[in-house]
Amino acid sequence: MKRPLRQPGGLASLGVRGRSPGIGPRLRAIFGGGSSISDASWEEVEEALIAADVGAGTALELVDAARGRLATRAADVNGVRGALRDEIAARLTAVGSGTFDLGPSPSILLFVGVNGTGKTTTVAKLASRLTSEGRAVALAAADTFRAAAIEQLRIWGEQIGVPVVAQRAGADPGAVAFDAVTAADARGLDAVLIDTAGRLHTKGHLMTELTKIRDVVQRRLPGQPRHVLLVLDATIGQNGIAQAEAFSADAGVTSVIVTKLDGTAKGGVALAVVERLQVPIHFVGVGEGLDDLAPFDPRAYAEWLLTA
Ligand code: GDP
Repeated sequence: MKRPLRQPGGLASLGVRGRSPGIGPRLRAIFGGGSSISDASWEEVEEALIAADVGAGTALELVDAARGRLATRAADVNGVRGALRDEIAARLTAVGSGTFDLGPSPSILLFVGVNGTGKTTTVAKLASRLTSEGRAVALAAADTFRAAAIEQLRIWGEQIGVPVVAQRAGADPGAVAFDAVTAADARGLDAVLIDTAGRLHTKGHLMTELTKIRDVVQRRLPGQPRHVLLVLDATIGQNGIAQAEAFSADAGVTSVIVTKLDGTAKGGVALAVVERLQVPIHFVGVGEGLDDLAPFDPRAYAEWLLTA
């Protein structure tokens, strides 16, 4: 059973629910027997990394880099894990993972992703976090396809105690986004978090709509949206890469929030997406509650990925 992801300075108890084993047990099996590391052992390490969804190219690069780091030292499983961990953390840190800067007010945050990834919940979690830091924020329901989605955001807004910019179901999402930016300006808000409809990255017209929403925001307030956050479900594996590429092309993704890390031992897709898009991960979702959003810590993530 994988250990829960614990992040220094982050949230304390991050639940583990029925996960299958990840890289940890495989590393221990590969190196359990002794101290010498053969080429075959390294190949098995590469396979274990691929099985955890980090991607074939990245797995090969990580193994090469770890071998380089260990070149002059006799290494056991802890040494190998340490070398891989340092390499993974360095790669994540190099693109700025972990540090989220809202920037000068107002900040328009556009949330994108496929259905069910946890977008609306993540909007609420981040709004709650920003509010507790003393920021004045509002939510905007640009998911106008479903009345239930607008209602869900309203309920979160009430619970957190922040205003929700919304129109009726079926309204133009661009109009909601326009209202959201206007509200940010008029009310002197620090941030508006815009929830968009979940969409399959393969549906061209829906993806074009995202481009339109972004353009509306940009025209109303040049330089915005400051952040376009892709909400990515860690449990979907390699399919996350195709999603990330499509959203990046159509919505100009600037960072990633990985959800449901509490529900998988194969969270390697987080690293794979960072490698592919070269954008940082700022937060991870580790449960369904408002407090279950932790700042992303590259080293803790790498440790979790390799140990559990
Ligand atoms: P959306 O369709 O992308 O807006 O997704 P929702 O925000 O409605 O979330 C879909 C489901 O995922 C809900 O049941 C959420 O409670 C759940 N969820 C969201 N984030 C997390 C997370 O980090 N961990 C877990 N375990 N569940 C999550």
